Amino acid sequence: MDLTGIGMTSQRTRERLIGRLMERGISDEAVLDVIRNTPRHIFLDEALAHRAYEDTALPIGFSQTLSQPYIVARMTELLLERGRPKKVLEIGTGSGYQCAVLAQLADQVFSVERIRPLQQKARQRLNLLKLHNVRFKHADGGFGWQENGPYDAILSAAAPEAVPEELTNQLAVGGRLLMPVGDQQTQQLIMIERTEDGLEQQVVEAVRFVPLLAGVLS
Ligand code: SAH
Repeated sequence: MDLTGIGMTSQRTRERLIGRLMERGISDEAVLDVIRNTPRHIFLDEALAHRAYEDTALPIGFSQTLSQPYIVARMTELLLERGRPKKVLEIGTGSGYQCAVLAQLADQVFSVERIRPLQQKARQRLNLLKLHNVRFKHADGGFGWQENGPYDAILSAAAPEAVPEELTNQLAVGGRLLMPVGDQQTQQLIMIERTEDGLEQQVVEAVRFVPLLAGVLS
C-alpha cells in the first residue's frame, strides 16, 4: 500500500472525480473534501489501483465490491443532514473505503464485516490513514452491534430483502438509517428516520449493491 507518488494519485485525477460527483448533485462541501483527500487507490489491489478515481464500483475479492464513489457520497451526505453524527454503525466494512470517509465526518464509527480477510485488510488501511476512531467486529451485521447503540446513523453497503428490525431498534431518536433493500434485480436505497413518534421511511433512488448474507466467513 503506497500513499505517495504515481500519477493516479494526482490532484487532477481526483479533482475530475469531484467534478463528476458535483454534476450528479452532491453538494455537501465536507463530504466532497473528504472524498477529495481520501486516497481510494489504497483500498484496491494494485492491478486495479489505476481505476480508483473512476466513479464506479470495483471488485475487492470474495465476490464483493468497493462501492461507487457517487453512492458513498450520497449516503454520507444524507447521514450528515442531521448534523455531525456521534456514533455511526456501518454494516459491510468491505475494503474500508466508506468506513474511512465516515471516520472523518463522525466522532466514532463501529463497522461490522462477515468476511474476516476483508476486515483485516480494511483495519490495516484505516491504521495507515491514522483513522483511529473506528472499531471493527467480525460478525453478521444484520443483527447490528447492540452494545454500542443507539446510533445516530446506520449505513449498510449490502442489501437485505427487508430492513432487519434489529437495526431500526438500534437507531437513536433523530437518527437515520440508510440501506439498499431488494433482490439482485431491483433494489432501492431506503432512508429511515426514528422520530419521537416512530419510524419514517423514504425511498431515495434505485441502486445496485451486493446482497446482505447471513453468517460469517473466517
Ligand atoms: N462499504 C464497502 C462496500 C463493501 S461491499 C466499501 O467501501 O468497500 C458490501 C460488504 O458487505 C461486503 O464486504 C460483504 O462481505 C459485507 N456483508 C454482506 N453481508 C453482511 C452481513 N450480514 N454482515 C456484515 N457484512 C456483510
